[in-house]
Amino acid sequence: MAKYNIAVMEGDGIGPEIVKETMKVLRLAEGLFEGLVIDCHYFPVGLSSFNQYGSTLPDETIAGLKQCDAGILGPLTTHAYNTNNPDMVNASGRLRKQFDLYANVRPARTFPGVSSRFENVDLVIIRENTEGMYADRNLYYNTGEFMTDSDTVLSLRVVTRKGSERLAKVGLDLASARHKKLSIVHKKNVLRQGCGLFYDSCHQVGADYPNVYIDDYHVDAFAMHLVQKPEDFDVIVTTNMFGDILSDQAAGLIGGLGLAPGLNVGDSFLLAQATHGSAPDISGKNLANPISEILSAKMMLEWLSIRNNDQYALDAASLIENGVEETLSRGFKTKDLGGNLSTEEFGDHLIEIIKEVKTNKENAIS
Ligand code: ATP
Repeated sequence: MAKYNIAVMEGDGIGPEIVKETMKVLRLAEGLFEGLVIDCHYFPVGLSSFNQYGSTLPDETIAGLKQCDAGILGPLTTHAYNTNNPDMVNASGRLRKQFDLYANVRPARTFPGVSSRFENVDLVIIRENTEGMYADRNLYYNTGEFMTDSDTVLSLRVVTRKGSERLAKVGLDLASARHKKLSIVHKKNVLRQGCGLFYDSCHQVGADYPNVYIDDYHVDAFAMHLVQKPEDFDVIVTTNMFGDILSDQAAGLIGGLGLAPGLNVGDSFLLAQATHGSAPDISGKNLANPISEILSAKMMLEWLSIRNNDQYALDAASLIENGVEETLSRGFKTKDLGGNLSTEEFGDHLIEIIKEVKTNKENAIS
């Protein structure tokens, strides 16, 4: 039997709505697999936490996370935070740094029943998560942007050999388990030292993976290939900001951000977090697509299963994914995908279909 302590943080905007549906699915998964125990612990983050406890990331939340195996985080409306207020920290960035969640794994794949420009997309972008152009990750204090005068700003970018090598290893391990192809995305013709170090580090680690074919692209050329032939790609590794932009672009190719999950991976903690933001335009309206967060939690189970050699978590993850596929292929969709279901209604259909898929799998075996 496997038991996991999971921290749940609802976040801002649509966060509480999509996390609620995610928890419905996780509780169902736990009920369907006798050997899987998921103990959930709710912790405050974001604007509601600030209003109630005076901080967007209270110390109690960090202390609680340290007792857990992994976490689920809803999106945060960080653009509404006052950056001069030390109690309004960007929990997403701070947690990535504090728990050294150095790889942000963002898959993009086509789903049956969802109309998109391409049919056979199945790629994973792995974005470096703790350095790069996100200067707040690089400094003990301050944002990494400097105004030398009122008309000039200097922005800091950090690339390290350690950060690049460990990211490459995540990409190469994943590529080995998938279609054995890794693409390194960089801009080393211009950023010769920073992107050059990233590229060299990836190739150095790649030398230990003779089974993986490695190619590389300048980020601008990659952006074009991605919209022309996304079927060509398997696993992509890239630096922080390139990865942030390209993963949204990839989501656009397969039906939008509502289908875009993500997992922040460190050596001793995992944080499931959809690729998108808090969608203030639809928040509180029961309109958001919860699939992005549900599939993020599914990824969390998958990685927990690999790390703990746990078949129950792997089976639960695979059942959740099959349930999402089946629900979409039967035409049950939220508004962003052209459907008419509310967030909750979609979650309810998914729950029933997951149960059905499980029964069908069992009948097929017996
Ligand atoms: P933030 O400042 O928090 O990043 P944003 O609106 O700038 O918010 P996103 O939240 O990523 O950026 O949203 C971009 C667009 O995608 C919005 O129109 C939003 O409604 C839509 N969107 C994002 N996530 C979802 C979702 N899960 N379901 C449906 N639509 C979504």
